[in-house]
Amino acid sequence: MNTNPTAVINRKAALRLRSGHLWVYKSDILRLDNAEPGVIVEVRDERGRFQARAFYSSKSKIALRLLTTREDESPDAGFFRRRIQEAARRRPAFDSRTSAYRLVNGEGDGLPSIIIDRFNNVLVLQTLSQGADAVKSDLIQILQEEFHPAGIAERNDVGVRELEGLPLISQLVAGEVPEEMEYCENGIRFIARLLEGQKTGSFLDQRENHQAARGYARGQALDCFTYAGGFALHLAATCRQVLAIDSSASAVDLGRRNALLNGVQNVEFKEANVFDELKAFDRAQERFDTIVLDPPAFAKKRANLDSAMRGYKEINLRAMKLLSPGGVLISCSCSQHISEIDFLNLLSDSASDAYRHFAVLEKRTQSSDHPFLLSMPETLYLKCAILQAID
Ligand code: SAH
Repeated sequence: MNTNPTAVINRKAALRLRSGHLWVYKSDILRLDNAEPGVIVEVRDERGRFQARAFYSSKSKIALRLLTTREDESPDAGFFRRRIQEAARRRPAFDSRTSAYRLVNGEGDGLPSIIIDRFNNVLVLQTLSQGADAVKSDLIQILQEEFHPAGIAERNDVGVRELEGLPLISQLVAGEVPEEMEYCENGIRFIARLLEGQKTGSFLDQRENHQAARGYARGQALDCFTYAGGFALHLAATCRQVLAIDSSASAVDLGRRNALLNGVQNVEFKEANVFDELKAFDRAQERFDTIVLDPPAFAKKRANLDSAMRGYKEINLRAMKLLSPGGVLISCSCSQHISEIDFLNLLSDSASDAYRHFAVLEKRTQSSDHPFLLSMPETLYLKCAILQAID
């Protein structure tokens, strides 16, 4: 008799796995045998045929996250080591101007719910499901042996862990990690607070978009939702003046320090609510030649989609109105529930309401060290459109 932890899934879920998707929802599970929270289970179809091995989560709506599909391959420490090595080999060749990047991007690297970022010689780890959390000590050991980092930090203080019934933790797990770490992105110096900053300390997924934006930006620029000045400091090179806005006092403080670190004098940081500021600029009939919109994910859940769409629409409509003739809008959305097509339609509706016409100069996505899966549209979460007003 088979006493291995097992999950039996319905036909719909089996078909989805076969098409390359890595998740099975709780509602598609027909039966569970011996499945403790966080274990690796055998996944079988209704007729008992082997489908895969997967992380099992007892709390999340995403109950299974697929690891392997061959019956003779077990997801042991050797498996995790191989996947991490493969992810490292997939990374683009960075020159000395960039010293921080994502080493492992969860599903996109075949390691669901496992994130590893690298800042110089320090690694930052996130284990975002019960299963990933259960193999954390294996992962730490593999990272030490493979990369010999000066230190490893665990940034498990993210909301999704609550959906898994996991505690929120931010701590040092190996070696030493300085409170603040200076790293380089496209030749610009940034400070990251690895144990406290947003995300794992920085928005590395925007690195290539920061660089692209610099190429189009000019004149008077406005960087909305700037965090630590990611876009603003890039725009400073090609713009006369940049106004960078964020509602977080600590973000604005970091942004100012980053500007100083680079000897940049044409960026002004302001702590304010972007919605209010855009309204005020509209009333005052201000004009900008370049505007960046990089809001947080307004739609964290599908249930919030309507209000999220209204939020995106409002800021895009207002920004479009504020653009000078020929002005450039760099508009981003990182909500995984909004597809690229939905996002372009939203921009099109906003333009129509603003009585402006735009050419799309580039349609971009997350940086290439954040690979997504062709078979899992949700993993392409970041959209970045570069538009130019042509009226
Ligand atoms: N553009 C940044 C990343 C932005 S993340 C980069 O490229 O690195 C989103 C930022 O929006 C966060 O720093 C958050 O503090 C800020 N934010 C959220 N709501 C806001 C609001 N209503 N007004 C201004 N800033 C806001």
